[in-house]
Amino acid sequence: MTDTKLHLYNSLTRMQEPFEPVHEGEARVYSCGPTVYNYPHIGNMRAYVFADVLGRTLSWKGYKLTHVINITDVGHLTDDADEGEDKLEKMAAEKAKSIWDIAQHYTQAYWEDVKALNIRQPAHWSIATDYVPQMIEFAEGIAEKHCYQLESGLYFDTSTVSDYGKLARAVTEDGEGRIQTVEGKRNAADFAIWRKTPPGETRQMEWDSPWGKGAPGWHLECSVMGEKLLGFPFDIHTGGIDHREIHHPNEIAQNQAFCGSDASGARIWMHNNFLVERSGKMSKSSGEFLRLQLLLDKGYHPMAYRMMCLQAHYRSELEFSWDGLTAALTRLKRMLIATERLADAGEGDANHPKIAPLMERFDEALSDDLNTPLALTALEDLLALKKIDAGAKRSAIAKMDQVMGLGLFEHSRTDMRIRPSSSVIDEVEIEEALVRRKTARAEKDFATSDALRDELATKGVEVMDGDTLGWDWKLS
Ligand code: AMP
Ligand code: ZN
Repeated sequence: MTDTKLHLYNSLTRMQEPFEPVHEGEARVYSCGPTVYNYPHIGNMRAYVFADVLGRTLSWKGYKLTHVINITDVGHLTDDADEGEDKLEKMAAEKAKSIWDIAQHYTQAYWEDVKALNIRQPAHWSIATDYVPQMIEFAEGIAEKHCYQLESGLYFDTSTVSDYGKLARAVTEDGEGRIQTVEGKRNAADFAIWRKTPPGETRQMEWDSPWGKGAPGWHLECSVMGEKLLGFPFDIHTGGIDHREIHHPNEIAQNQAFCGSDASGARIWMHNNFLVERSGKMSKSSGEFLRLQLLLDKGYHPMAYRMMCLQAHYRSELEFSWDGLTAALTRLKRMLIATERLADAGEGDANHPKIAPLMERFDEALSDDLNTPLALTALEDLLALKKIDAGAKRSAIAKMDQVMGLGLFEHSRTDMRIRPSSSVIDEVEIEEALVRRKTARAEKDFATSDALRDELATKGVEVMDGDTLGWDWKLS
């Protein structure tokens, strides 16, 4: 195994930095989790594929990983700048369900997507509402020096910490991107630590506090759960690029207040760029949006989406298209054809001299701020290696796949065939395709014959070559 030093891009310094763990041999990572008021869209899931690759890379590098992902089930308002309603309260009212049912349902849905995308389980899934007493305690600790009360709750005075907004680098006097909607705020960027339930109203989720009955502000939970579960300072904090502008600067401000220093709570702040889609189906608040289930309904295996994510660097914007997804699926299928050939091979020497340079390239790519697109090419070159001991090859591929998480020895090419939910089977169409296929085979045009078989497979029809009972096809 090579030992190229791991370098990661730190949004705080806007530079790649060598990874120096806070605790020797360990890596402690906190990832901002989903707000469970609706299904996650595949853009949200890009954030967790990224965090997963980061965690797997840290494990690959030999660090003992402690990963925390939180579940936001309270406090996230429809507008990040302290305006609007709590997203969960709003959805619960719309669906006439209890907020707890809403949270449970969408947390479960998120966990299913996590599993389908082969994202490893973190050490802790921390649920925000489990930490409300700790949040109150944290707020009590910083209230006197850093907060002030308004009619609507307790607010954080961002002028009380040094260099507020250094992460976003865009905060001006007027608080860029924010509107001073809450009357009495001292600075436009000030934010709620505790939101009091307005007089005469009851919220489904509310707790007693020294500032009145109410609910915590959204930013508080991540500071508290990060500190409780990982301890300040921990190594890496992750989230989508949108969090670089408001949520994370606010977390940092709270952490500075709590630590009584300039310390940001985490040493490295990492942000994945967005998955974008032209027609705007990437918003959870819009009607129809891109969920993993929609990909399945259209006949795409979730691993095709994981592959799509790996093909782009996490700091680049990634444009979603069905053609792009098809290409990713095809690439994955090719890999699976290669690994299926090694199904019976035993263990071998992954450090074989022919393999070592590829392993080094793979390691270098990952060490360079998780360059997965480049790492994939090293994996493909390994898959293409000829005249080499099958066991050695198999072991080396398995090793690389510990980081890529594509399940190259767990899935087969046929697993990638998912029958689209809309597929209709017309026997005439099937028979016609089989006649065309027979002709192609007779002419030794195997490319056409294979393509026809695959096309039928996507429609849920399995071609049964050489079946002893003489069946030509069956519904799979
Ligand atoms: P949310 O459930 O809205 O709190 O978001 C969960 C995670 O997804 C956060 O880390 C967001 O920054 C991230 N995220 C939101 N939209 C996208 C997107 N289109 N592409 C990538 N990440 C996203
Ligand atoms: Zn967070």
